[in-house]
Amino acid sequence: MRQPVLFIGHGSPLNIVADNAFTRRLRSLGPELPRPSSILVVSAHWLTQGTRIVTTPWPETIHDFGGFPQELYSLQYPAPGAVEMAREIREGIPNVAPALDWGLDHGAWAVLHHLFPAHDIPVAQMSIDVRSPLSAQYEIARSLRTWRDRGVLIIGSGNITHNLRSIRWEEDAEPLDWAVEFDELIKNKILSRDDKALINPHGTMGSLAAQAHPSLDHYVPLLYTLGAADQDEAVEFPYEGIQNASISMRAVKIG
Ligand code: ZN
Repeated sequence: MRQPVLFIGHGSPLNIVADNAFTRRLRSLGPELPRPSSILVVSAHWLTQGTRIVTTPWPETIHDFGGFPQELYSLQYPAPGAVEMAREIREGIPNVAPALDWGLDHGAWAVLHHLFPAHDIPVAQMSIDVRSPLSAQYEIARSLRTWRDRGVLIIGSGNITHNLRSIRWEEDAEPLDWAVEFDELIKNKILSRDDKALINPHGTMGSLAAQAHPSLDHYVPLLYTLGAADQDEAVEFPYEGIQNASISMRAVKIG
């Protein structure tokens, strides 16, 4: 069954163990989706030279964060690897290299932990190629569209705003004006499917984009979600909200 495509704002690793409006929404969203045959995640936390895809049969749960409660480091997401899907993607898309040295980083498993807590659906991660222009990464996502017809759920995991210099530790701190403004701007561009503008954030959204993303790692996964979606598909926002004063937790579902 054809799958929708998702973007999930993952925010602080504390969301992995938190019971809040965001995590409760992810918990309810998973069962609303048609059950995927496999899952492909593009996470903000795997940046490589060239595009790579995880090909291990049992991807390691990577605890790629420091200074958080011990409870977080003992959690595992022991889902099987989507070995067959990864092989087909490597055959179908040029220059995607296999990766046996990566598993699931927290950008991937923090959201899967809530969306699919039974960890029984095969998962692979695809990396973000730091050498590749955003337009070329969007084109890779276009090539991924056909896998949705084979039951593959594609998830981009990042944040619509991500500037760690302006976070507050309190999860429910008053949102900063620029974060609200940028989140709203992106929301409207997604609704009008102005992908051309979204592929060039610093060119089309100027200093506001620079403030929202001093580096683009958490923004790029959104382009994979958009690229994997057709222009005429319905857009929904399963979750909207800002945590820690400046982190947009907006989730996007298309199709
Ligand atoms: Zn992150």
